[in-house]
Amino acid sequence: MKRLAAFCLAIALSLLPLGGCQGEPTQKRYEYQFFDTFDTLVQIVGYTHTPEEFEDYAQLAHNRFVELHNMYDKFESHPGVNGIAAINLAAGTAPVKAEAEVLDLLEFCTQWQQKTGDMVEITLGPVITIWQEYLARYHLDYDDAQLPPTAQLEAAAALCAPEYLQIDRAAGTVFLTQEGAALDVGAVAKGFATELVASELQAAGWESFSISSGGNVRTCGEPLSDTTTTWSVGIQDPFANAVLASQDQLLDVLFVNDQSVVTSGDYQRFYMVGDQRIHHIIDPATLFPATHYRSVTVVTPHSGMADFLSTALFVMDYEEGRALADEYDVGVLWVFPDGTVQANDTILPLLRDRGGATNKR
Ligand code: AMP
Ligand code: MG
Repeated sequence: MKRLAAFCLAIALSLLPLGGCQGEPTQKRYEYQFFDTFDTLVQIVGYTHTPEEFEDYAQLAHNRFVELHNMYDKFESHPGVNGIAAINLAAGTAPVKAEAEVLDLLEFCTQWQQKTGDMVEITLGPVITIWQEYLARYHLDYDDAQLPPTAQLEAAAALCAPEYLQIDRAAGTVFLTQEGAALDVGAVAKGFATELVASELQAAGWESFSISSGGNVRTCGEPLSDTTTTWSVGIQDPFANAVLASQDQLLDVLFVNDQSVVTSGDYQRFYMVGDQRIHHIIDPATLFPATHYRSVTVVTPHSGMADFLSTALFVMDYEEGRALADEYDVGVLWVFPDGTVQANDTILPLLRDRGGATNKR
């Protein structure tokens, strides 16, 4: 069920390169997808001279996604990998010598946490785990739609604090100093991994491709199409039926090159308790799902930053969020519970419907 939701999201937000070539292009468009990492569908679209060349790049990407998934997975320890699961298991006991990509991700998170007032707090693991258990219970039995007791959330919150995370770069170790503490990098790992893979593909020589990992989209170069100048990325309408979501139900379309587009939404993983929508983005101040918006979409080149900021902005109130977007010059589109939409000046010119953008050659 969780996978189905992620799949629907990926379809709704999938890349929409408007192919169709007049004349013979020197490079052709190919597609590849897989479903075995980050609990979501990863789609790669790109242009190469031959199918073999595309296959090589796509395989490289797939292999790297598997490696990064194994490092960033909190649910399962993978043989030979010292990642998030191993660090959580050793909480309160011993530092773990972690992979370089794990140290990079955790340092990236702590830097951005400090810049954004701990709205995204990767040490919130014990609290997030409770909400995930209640969501899982609901998926096992749709009549079992419950809220966790506040006392349980508060007891878990006592185990959550940024100070409990110690990263020793020189030693290459990570230590959760408090027994019962746990990392959850769900707010950023997929985007960070997508950025790593995209930069490695570029370093390998690929000039024109797009990766969508469950709606975290990273575009590199421009599409080598005769008809379009930019990649198209649909923004899902949070008020549309997710299962039936199609291109007609998009809120708008972004035309971008060399940018990432990431959306955090309350419709991605949720259940209902009465008329309360219990979704997967938790406000650390209340320990309950954040309620300011239906969705927040971020456009900025670095996919890890886009992923981090979409979650952080989802938790922040509008004034604070708008100031943060200005400070870091990121494009943001907010959809409010009453259906109103706000788009800042950075994102507006990139939007097809609201900004009049076009990608026709
Ligand atoms: P995203 O879909 O990128 O907005 O990330 C949502 C995921 O981030 C959730 O499924 C949790 O794993 C995690 N998460 C939710 N709320 C927070 C928070 N306030 N701080 C850190 N991680 C969070
Ligand atoms: Mg995120």
